[in-house]
Amino acid sequence: MTGLTHDPAILAEADDWRTRDLAVVWHPCTQMREHPELMPLVPIERGDGAWLIDSDGRRILDSGSSWWTNLHGHAEPRIAEAIARQARTLEQVILAGCTHPGAVELAERLLALAPREPGRPPLSKVFYADNGSAGVEVALKMAFQWFQNRGDEPRRTKFVALQNGYHGETLGALAVGDIPLYRRVYAPLLCEAVFAPSPDAYLAREGQGAAGHAEDAADALAHLLDAHAGEICALILEPRVQCAGGMRMHDPVYLRRVRDLCDVHGIFLIADEIAVGFGRTGTLFACEQAPGETGGVAGIQPDLLCLSKGLTGGFLPLATVLATQVLYDGFLDESRDRAFLHSHSYTGNPLACAAALASLDIFASDDVLARNRATAERMTALAGQVGGHRHIADVRQAGMIVAFELSRDGDRRAAFDPALRVGLHAYRHAVARGVLLRPLGDILYWMPPYCIDEAQLQLLAEVTAGAIEAATSCA
Ligand SMILES: *Cc1c(COP(=O)(O)O)cnc(C)c1O
Repeated sequence: MTGLTHDPAILAEADDWRTRDLAVVWHPCTQMREHPELMPLVPIERGDGAWLIDSDGRRILDSGSSWWTNLHGHAEPRIAEAIARQARTLEQVILAGCTHPGAVELAERLLALAPREPGRPPLSKVFYADNGSAGVEVALKMAFQWFQNRGDEPRRTKFVALQNGYHGETLGALAVGDIPLYRRVYAPLLCEAVFAPSPDAYLAREGQGAAGHAEDAADALAHLLDAHAGEICALILEPRVQCAGGMRMHDPVYLRRVRDLCDVHGIFLIADEIAVGFGRTGTLFACEQAPGETGGVAGIQPDLLCLSKGLTGGFLPLATVLATQVLYDGFLDESRDRAFLHSHSYTGNPLACAAALASLDIFASDDVLARNRATAERMTALAGQVGGHRHIADVRQAGMIVAFELSRDGDRRAAFDPALRVGLHAYRHAVARGVLLRPLGDILYWMPPYCIDEAQLQLLAEVTAGAIEAATSCA
C-alpha cells in the first residue's frame, strides 16, 4: 500500500466511479487504508430482491440485508411506489406544532402490534427519531428525565446495560455499549453506565445449558441492582440476540427475569429491538418470546421500545421509541422545563412513514412471519450441512439469523489470533463467488432479506462452507 493510493488528485482523474470513490468518500466503520488492496470496494448500482447488482451486472447475494435493514428485498415495488406517491404529496413537514396522516397512522399501527403483557398498561405513545442511535438517546433521556421531573429521586442518574451489548455510535448510545473496538477510544467522553454479565449462551459452562447460564446472569444482575439501589433509572438490552456483539444469543428466560427485576427496583426497561424487531427472530418482536410468570410463552412488555433498521423495510432512515402512559405523563406540566425538548429536523419524515406503513402492509398481505418460519427451517438444515467443519466452535440460530463462530480447532476458548484476519479472508472468498458475507470478527452469519429463495439459500450455504474452508486452511 502506498501513500499515493488515497491521493485525491490522482483518484479524481480516474474514469470510473469506483476509483473516484476513494478520492472523496470516507466510508463508515472502515479503516480506509484497507481499500482497495485488502478490501476491494463493491460497486453496487441496483438491487433486486435479495440480490445486489454491481456495475458490471454481476449479482451478489445480500446475506446481511445491508446492515440488517432490508426485510422484503431491494427495490421492493410496493414500498418504492408508496414513497413515490408520498413524495408527490408531502415530502417533509415540521413535526413540532404540525402533524401528518402518516405519522398518526404509523403510531397507531405500531402501538397495536407492540408486545403486550396481560395486566400491564400497554405502550401508548410513539416518539419519532431518524436513526437507531438517536432512538436510543431518546429512550435514555426519557428514562433519566422522568425521575428528574419527579424530583424525589435525583440520584437516579445511571443506566444498567449488558456486557457485549451494542446500542449505536453516538456518545449517549456508546456509553451503554460494551464493544471495546467501538467504545475504547471515546471512553473518557462517555457518561457512566453499569455493566451486567451477558446472558450469552456461548459463555455457558460445560453442561450448564443456555437457560442455566441465563439464570446465573439474572442472579448477577439482581446483585448489581441491589448494590446500586436508588442510583439507576433504566436498564437497556437487546432482547434475544446481541447482534453487533457477534450474533450472541440468550435464552428468553432472561427477559422474564429482567422484567421482574426492573419492576422490583422501580426502574424502566428499555428494549432495543432496532436489529431484532419486525420478524427477525421468528416473532414480530423478540420480547414476545419470554416465558410467563407461570411458564409457557407470554412475552414481556418493555417500558420503552426502540425500533429502527427494518422499520421502513430498509428503504429510509427512521426510528421510533414507544413509551408507556406513565412515562409520558411524567412530562406533562405547566412548565416547558419538564417537557421532552428533544428533536431532530427530520423527526417523523412523511416519506419514511409511508415506507414503514407499506412494509407493515406487506407483513399482513404476504404472511411474512409464516414464510419466515419455513425459511428459518431451511436455514437450520443448511447450517447443519455447513456446521460440521473442524474450525466451527458454535452454530446458533434465532429465526432468520444463523451464526457460525470460528475458532482454532473448534475450541470455544481458543479464538483465532485477530491478526490472522480469518473473517476478512472468508469475506473476500465469498464476495468473489457472489455472496456479500460481511463478518463480525471471526463470526460469519446469515441474516438475509426475508424474500430469499431456495436457490439463493443453497448458494449461501455452499459459498459459506467454501469461505470457511479457505479462510481457516492457512490459519
Ligand atoms: C444498529 C443498531 C443501533 C444503532 O442504529 P443506527 O441506525 O445504526 O444508529 C442500535 N441498537 C442496535 C441493537 C443496533 O443493532
